[in-house]
Parts: sequence; C-alpha cells; structure tokens
Amino acid sequence: MQASSDGQGPLVQVPLTELKGVGPALATKLEKLGVARVEDLLFLLPLRYEDRTQLVRIGALVPGQRCLVTGEVLLAETVYRGRRNLLVRISDGSGQLTLRFFHFSRQQQAQFQAGLTVSCFGEVRRGSAGLEMIHPEYRLLRDDQATAMSDSLTPIYPATEGVQQGRLRNLTDQALRLMQESPPVELLPEAVTTRLGMPSLAGAIRYLHRPPPDANIEEMLAGRHPCQQRLAFEELLAHYLSLRSLRALAETENATPLTDGQSDLDAFIDDLPFELTGAQQRVVDEILADLARAHPMMRLIQGDVGSGKTVVAAIACLKAIACGVQAAIMAPTEILAEQHWRNFSAWFRPLGIEPAWLSGSQKTAARRESLAAIADGRAQLVVGTHALFQEGVDFARLALVIIDEQHRFGVHQRMALRDKGVSSGAHPHQLVMTATPIPRTLAMAAYADLDTSIIDELPPGRKAVSTIAVPDTRRGEIVERVRSACAGGQQAYWVCPLIEESEILDYQAAEASYAMLTEALPELRIGLVHGRMRPVEKERGMQAFKDGLIQLLVATTVIEVGVDVPNASLMIIENAERMGLSQLHQLRGRVGRGAEQSHCVLLYKPPLGRIAKERLAVLRDTNDGFVVAQRDLELRGPGELLGTRQTGLPDYRIANLVRDAELMPEVQKTATQLRRGSEATAAAIVRRWLGDAARYGKV
Ligand code: ADP
Ligand code: MG
Repeated sequence: MQASSDGQGPLVQVPLTELKGVGPALATKLEKLGVARVEDLLFLLPLRYEDRTQLVRIGALVPGQRCLVTGEVLLAETVYRGRRNLLVRISDGSGQLTLRFFHFSRQQQAQFQAGLTVSCFGEVRRGSAGLEMIHPEYRLLRDDQATAMSDSLTPIYPATEGVQQGRLRNLTDQALRLMQESPPVELLPEAVTTRLGMPSLAGAIRYLHRPPPDANIEEMLAGRHPCQQRLAFEELLAHYLSLRSLRALAETENATPLTDGQSDLDAFIDDLPFELTGAQQRVVDEILADLARAHPMMRLIQGDVGSGKTVVAAIACLKAIACGVQAAIMAPTEILAEQHWRNFSAWFRPLGIEPAWLSGSQKTAARRESLAAIADGRAQLVVGTHALFQEGVDFARLALVIIDEQHRFGVHQRMALRDKGVSSGAHPHQLVMTATPIPRTLAMAAYADLDTSIIDELPPGRKAVSTIAVPDTRRGEIVERVRSACAGGQQAYWVCPLIEESEILDYQAAEASYAMLTEALPELRIGLVHGRMRPVEKERGMQAFKDGLIQLLVATTVIEVGVDVPNASLMIIENAERMGLSQLHQLRGRVGRGAEQSHCVLLYKPPLGRIAKERLAVLRDTNDGFVVAQRDLELRGPGELLGTRQTGLPDYRIANLVRDAELMPEVQKTATQLRRGSEATAAAIVRRWLGDAARYGKV
C-alpha cells in the first residue's frame, strides 16, 4: 500500500471500530489512552514487561523483582493487623515465601489446603514475616499440572479503567496483523536510521509488542534493546521538535521591548552590599539584551544553589518597572515566595516600589486589595505562588514573568502563564530559574524551548560545605556535635526525609526526631517545620530560626529550596541513602552561606550497598552541583533526576529522559535537519507521538 501524501500510513485513517470486538463504548475508553485509530494502537507501547519465562527458586528471590514462583502450601491462616489478612506460607525446598491477601473470600481461604501446589506471580517484598508477595496472581495446580510458563516476555500495557490487559493484547494482535499489509510510514530520514544502525520501524514495533522467545531479557527489561531505542529516539525527537517549534513561535510573537531605565539599574547595582560576580554580570547582560527585543524572551537561568540568582531576577524586575510595565515572580512554595517577597521588599522599598503579594492562603480582603492593585497597575511587581496565574487575576500591563525553581513547573504551566500575560497582542518576557543543575543532554531535552544562561560561579568567600556520611548507629555522637555547635552560637538544621511521598509518615518521622532531640538537648531552643503545617505556622517557624530565636530546626524537606539563614552552619540529614543526590546537594546548600566553615552530616541506615556508598561519596568529594548531577545520572540509571511527580515533564511512552539522554545530540541534529526543508515530516512525527493535542502545533 502507498503512504498518503502527509507522511502518515493508511492505518492512521482506520477507525478502531473496524477491529473485532470494538464498539463505541470501548472506543471511548481507548481514547483516554490517546488511541483513536488503528495506528495509534501500534504506538501504544508496553509500559514494561513481565518475565514469566522462568521459575525462580524461592531461595534466590530478590525483593523488588516480579517473578514466577511455585511452592507447596505449608499453612494458611488469617491474622488481624488492623484488618484481616490471609497469609499463605509456601515452600519449594529452597526457602519460604508468604502470600499476603487483604481482600479474600471464605472460599479462597478454604482453597489453600496444606500440601497443595500453588504457582504464583507477583512482586517480592521484604515483609514482617520474611519475603512476601502481596496479592499475587496465583493458580492451584493439580498433581499432573505443570506451572504455565510463557516462552517470551509478557507485555504490560498502560492501563485505563475498564480495559483489561487481555483485551489490549487482543487488539494489538489485530493491529499487528493489519500492519503486515500496511506498515506505518518510516518518518526518520534514512541517513539517520542507517548511521545509527536502527531496526526498521515496523520491525521495532512488532518486537516491542511481542518480544520473541530469544529476546535478550535483561536488555528488554532495562529498556536498552535497539528496538526500544529506535522508538525512544523517535519519541524524543517528537518532543524536541515540538519544543523547538514553541521556541520558533515566540520569534513570531510580539513583546514590549524594555530599553529604558539604565541609570536606575546602575544605581541599584551600585547600592548592593556586594559586587556582582562575573557570572551574574554576564547573565544580567544576556537578560537585558533579550528584554530589549520586540519578541518575548524565553530564557532559563541555571545556577547552583547559592550562586545568587535572586539578585539577578531583581535586576530584571527593576528593568521592567523602570520601563513602566509590570513584573511578576512566581515560586513553587509559600515559604519560598514569601522569602522573595521579603527580599524584594527590602531592596525595592527604598526606591518607592512596594511589591504586591498573592497566595492561595491569603485572606479575602488582602487578596481583593492585591487583585485591585494588579489590575489597575499600582502593583509594579507581584510576588506569589501559582495563585498568580489563576482565574480572576488580571494584570494591567504584565511584561515580565519570572518563575523560580523551575524544576517544579512543567512546560504546560509555562505555557499557561505565557497566555495569561498576553495583553493587546504582546506576550510577556519569560525568565525561569532553576537551582537543579542538570547535565547538558538532559537540559537539551527538557528545556528545548528555552535559551539557557548559566551562573557558573559562586560569590567570593564561600567555603565549600564539608560533608561526611555516618551510619545512624552513631547518632549519639552527632547529637553531641549539634550540642557543641549550638553552644558556640551557631545554628543547625536536622532534616528528615520524605517517606514514600506520604505527608503523614513524613510528618511522623519529623515529629519523632523532634521528640528525640528535645529530650537529648534540653538546653537548646528547638523548632519543628513540616509539610502538614499551615503556611503561616511554617513561616513562623522559619522566621524564628532566621531571627536566631530557634537554634536547631527540625524539618522535613520543605526547606529544600530557597531558605536563607547565613548563621546556620551545620546540617544533619537523616536517611540520606533514600534521597536523590541532587536533592541532597540542594539541601546542604542551605548551609555554607555565612562566614563559618559549614558541615553536612549524611546519616544513613547501614548496611549500604555498593551504589549507595558511591552515591554518598560523590557528595563528600564534590561541591559542584553539575558534577553531582552528572554522577547521579551515571549511578542511578533509569531514575528521576529531575525530581518526582512534580517535574511537570511530559510522560513519555517509551523514552526515559535519564536513560536515553545520550541520544539527545543525535536527536538535536536530526531535528535541525528536519526543520530545514522537511517541515511536513517534522509535523507528522510530532502528531504521531503527541497527537493533535500537541498545542504547540505548527512545526
Ligand atoms: P540562589 O542562587 O540559591 O537562589 P540566592 O540568590 O539566594 O542564591 O543568594 C544566596 C546568598 O548570596 C544571598 O544571601 C545573597 O544575598 C548572596 N549573594 C548573591 N550574590 C552575591 C554576590 N555577588 N556576592 C556576595 N553575596 C551574594
Ligand atoms: Mg533561590
């Protein structure tokens, strides 16, 4: 069959209802997965694979793995742990495993007779009773039955409500059959696929949906098979192209050129209690050059924690104000936003500029007052949280938007914000600042819609934070260290980690440490700040610490970004082995801001594995955030260098930004090539992966 002229294969046109078993109801459900046509099914790639090709001996099970196990039922019992649990203990001679059920029928319970053989598949965990599987899939086998093993990896598709894996497998089977007749169009330039030795598109799709029995299982599970890389490449390319087109779009949009007010800026910089570093000066110049243009600036500032991004932002704001337009600065948390508000107020009040404040927790009257000032232009500068960009906030003449700690906001929020500021056809200039230095290849993928400036120099006189890792069995010594530091007039942080993203556990951990420390150090004034407190309470705690009323601050990772207390020179971080390196680096950046030599103690739960050891050693050996980020990337493999859910980064179907970052230079090259003369192909690639929903269309 011939490809149609827009570069899309004929399967693109075929509605799903052509397939056996697909009625309007199912079609609607599938649309939730972005599947509208038969070809979309081909690109609905398995999220992961399960290995049911081999039986694993119980004695060889490793927590975290999902595997197939067979054993003889030794005993089944119900126990009460807050609610009823059914525990089934099985053994295969090499060891014992407990199957744990929270939901079960009487009949199920009766089924597990001692002596029967059960075959089960599930994730192995370390539980209170040794190794466990919670709610495994299972089957009781008759004497003559063998465990059903697959001869190849089992694909697991992205789930949507009411569509079972079996159904998705059946549908992709049908689509794969149709694909033999009319394969999807190869959109990558042949020169690229040849140079990179890539398998054909149809071949890669088939392989990923139905890995053959001889597939290299390890490679597949790690996402490193050439067929996976082939599709990951195309997906990264699609995202990259769409971000680049967004960037190009900005060049066609108008913005207010900001050129006046140089003398105000000079006076402000002269009056600062310090000299700008060379890097700060360079970045200021880059920003001012952008702002002078009639198109919106779209610039990212990367700078290690403590590199002095705030004052650079202030200079940009002052430029806007001097030109008679409004600037807005948005931070991801109330604490950070308030800190900016305080800083900016102190800098700008002497110049007769009173920054307005806007946040979600604000009282109605105060909010109304801020909104009025924003709408009639009295507020020249507005500081706040994302409340800034909600309904009902209308700016008189917003021309500059600054987003701090960018890694918490994604491209969609950036877009929403740009749209917000559009007035009489002019887009606001945009500056985003991040303290999470990310390696170049990753930045390429994540921020392709932005120009980048780097503040690669710390203010003079900063002493590197000296960092050590200590097992938490030596907690007592560390407590003594806190005692003597505080007795000497210094202040300290005691940080408790985020526990599985649970605010409740998080808070309990912090409370427990707080209780332990108040008991051990009765002579100290100790404060507690955690994520479940109301913003005003948090702020009160932080403020007391800043004012020196509190000597030791016990905190969850809410203090991760932005808090500035120069007299704090000691930080203890509990369960450091559970945290990302970049996050640890951010945290310790809270100390080392004053004249004292600062220290950071990473408490860990022994024993540490080899990788965990190496990770902590990275922090001991370097204070350079970029080096930390690069090492994190190398050591962590597929992971979440850019943070967790909060990244706002797009969800990829197959690509993994961390694992596949090394593809980026080629992705970039290919994109440049396509954008010069193969625009239709570029558009088709974006449509294939991002759908028509890709709002940054027009490649
Ligand atoms: P970050 O880049 O982490 O946001 P900040 O902007 O909070 O860093 O700056 C950290 C501290 O360094 C602040 O107390 C700030 O006043 C100070 N600072 C910024 N620039 C300089 C400089 N050029 N010289 C000395 N101190 C500076
Ligand atoms: Mg900052």
